[in-house]
Amino acid sequence: MTLISYTETPIQEIRDALLEKAGIRLLIKREDLNNPEVSGNKWWKLKHNLFRAHELGHHTLLTFGGAYSNHLYALAAAAHALKVKSIGIVRGEQTLPLNRTLDFATRKGMKLHYLSREQYREKSDEKILTEMRNRFGEFYLIPEGGTNEEAIKGCFELGEKLMREIQFDTLCLAVGTGGTLAGVVQALQPNQEVIGVSVLKDGRFLADEVRKWLPERVPGRWRIETRFDFGGYAKTTPELMNFLKRQQSSHQLPLDQVYTAKALFAVYSMIEKGKFRRGSTVLMLHTGGLQGAA
Ligand SMILES: *Cc1c(COP(=O)(O)O)cnc(C)c1O
Repeated sequence: MTLISYTETPIQEIRDALLEKAGIRLLIKREDLNNPEVSGNKWWKLKHNLFRAHELGHHTLLTFGGAYSNHLYALAAAAHALKVKSIGIVRGEQTLPLNRTLDFATRKGMKLHYLSREQYREKSDEKILTEMRNRFGEFYLIPEGGTNEEAIKGCFELGEKLMREIQFDTLCLAVGTGGTLAGVVQALQPNQEVIGVSVLKDGRFLADEVRKWLPERVPGRWRIETRFDFGGYAKTTPELMNFLKRQQSSHQLPLDQVYTAKALFAVYSMIEKGKFRRGSTVLMLHTGGLQGAA
């Protein structure tokens, strides 16, 4: 059972000269196509949170995010579909006109509330949460980026689905908070590896973030690749944008510059450097995010 509709997603095989020469099979699991609005990994991260909020009888969902957050976008759409209220606490000052993400969220009925960057840093403090309760009444809280136990449970199920549908040696995906990685890796076998590509500047801290969510031992291997942040969150370079455009025109593969283009760029770079065994299958999880594409 699911509360938000889910469409089965295709697996797209990419063929080109580099892959041929390296003897690598590259597959893209197109989770960006699972739902038009609550899409990609956000569908899986929200799934059990929505059940839980429903079970607990909450009529309001509250969460945090930056002004371009895919999570805010998805949550606003999910709340609208379920006919519950949503509140988005946004980092920084309001700027008008609203960007596309926040405009969409508002049209889905999300109430936006802005916190200064200083206040935002303390957003998990009881003080801020109490202030929010005084202002908005009771709510079900989903943290920034949507990562919590319920989210990881959903991403574990996504991992199980990948295991049922596809044979692969290495799974690559974009990492923001690490919640998606922490979920999927728990469904893998010892001969499989997950490579999480950090889209944040200096992503070395992310390994500790992921570890917080994992039991002491997990069957699958995993690591965080930190060399493909392109300057940090939402930062791009002409090289990255050219790569993104080439993927679109040569393979009809839409990518966003914040997450999925960086992940696939990393995959290509690692293939060029001979990091994957000849004959192996690399699976890239398309985590969505196309609402924020340039
Ligand atoms: C949110 C998001 C991610 C990051 O997921 P985490 O679980 O926070 O690591 C990756 N890709 C896309 C497209 C996203 O929207």
